[in-house]
Amino acid sequence: MNENVRTDEARYVMQTYKRAPVQFVRGEGALLFDDEGNEYLDFLGGISVASVGHCHPAVVEAVTEQSRVLQHTSNLFYTGPMVELARRLSESSLGGKVFFCNSGTEANECAIKIARKSARARGIEAPEIVSFEGDFHGRSYGALSATPGLAGNPDFAPMLPGFVSVPFDDADALAAAVGENTAAVLIEPIQGEAGVFPVSDATLAAAREACDRTGALLVFDEVQTGIGRTGSLWAYEQGPVKPDVITTAKALGGGVAIGACIGNEVTGEVLTTGDHGSTFAAGPVASKAALAVLDIVDDPDTLRRVRALGSRLREGLGAVDGVREVRGRGLMIGVGLEPGIDSGELNAALLAAGLVANAPRPDSLRLLPPFVLSDEQADRAVELIAETLSGYHPDESK
Ligand SMILES: *Cc1c(COP(=O)(O)O)cnc(C)c1O
Repeated sequence: MNENVRTDEARYVMQTYKRAPVQFVRGEGALLFDDEGNEYLDFLGGISVASVGHCHPAVVEAVTEQSRVLQHTSNLFYTGPMVELARRLSESSLGGKVFFCNSGTEANECAIKIARKSARARGIEAPEIVSFEGDFHGRSYGALSATPGLAGNPDFAPMLPGFVSVPFDDADALAAAVGENTAAVLIEPIQGEAGVFPVSDATLAAAREACDRTGALLVFDEVQTGIGRTGSLWAYEQGPVKPDVITTAKALGGGVAIGACIGNEVTGEVLTTGDHGSTFAAGPVASKAALAVLDIVDDPDTLRRVRALGSRLREGLGAVDGVREVRGRGLMIGVGLEPGIDSGELNAALLAAGLVANAPRPDSLRLLPPFVLSDEQADRAVELIAETLSGYHPDESK
């Protein structure tokens, strides 16, 4: 890759990321191209963002057209695309009002505010929010405080008070942690950053029951699972319960930054004038991009395709030597590797072989490919993983 880019990044960009040594310059569908003209199959999708594929013509057109007409007015005025997007999000999920923002982190901040204000209205003075160990909810102080794996970092202490975590998918521990001071249970229905671990239906049902018993809100962080990723528009649709609040971002804008916190008929009414805001949120360009994404994704054919591709990949990957288990749903896939295989090394080798993936933990790969993948591209990815893994498992009979 271009050495100036590498050295200038090291010189001028705060070093909060360890980047792979590739500079991408173009994307098209499920493909990425680097500055040397190499082609890659993108099985990360910008971390579950490029779900409709890179530079989808409908998103490009929506953004281009809107950019020519009106880009920003602030939220002190009405804009049509924002209102239309709120209607689409509400009608496709919980039926209540929507708050817009620019990221998943901010969507969770809004949910935390709704939870605390609701708790206060119930007379709770020290509200608590319960999450699972391994959950990821974001990097600002509220979301960070709700992210047990990061909240303990002493460099950034103190965290916000009132955040509690219980062992992952432990229904009894969750039920025991939810009490009269609980404002909300805030969980990912399928943990993404942790390596793709679905919460069991029994635990989701226990969470709903605990919230109903105490009056706490059930908040699903669908920032990664939402917008069709698991084969339904929202992951909760495939489970046994409906949450009271959903947060979304990542794939919503098809590559343009936008997030949303969606309420139901009760939780959507909690925040009122002056309670929250955002300068950029749901500007006309981002809203038009999101509307174009929903036109594509909120469609039975697309969602059926996501499920079919997911099955195809799971079946293929399950038969690969070196793969211990395949987790997840739809096109949100965790690949558990056999002991002795380092996912970081494997991921680097895959990148060199032309497959962009991700190693969220030492024993697993995470795959989040665009929905526009062809069967051939799906099979090719399985082949690349099998070939690369075979380096770790030389067949001794040959
Ligand atoms: C990515 C992610 C977030 C944070 O979203 P940002 O847009 O990076 O702020 C929050 N929750 C989940 C489940 C995520 O995957």
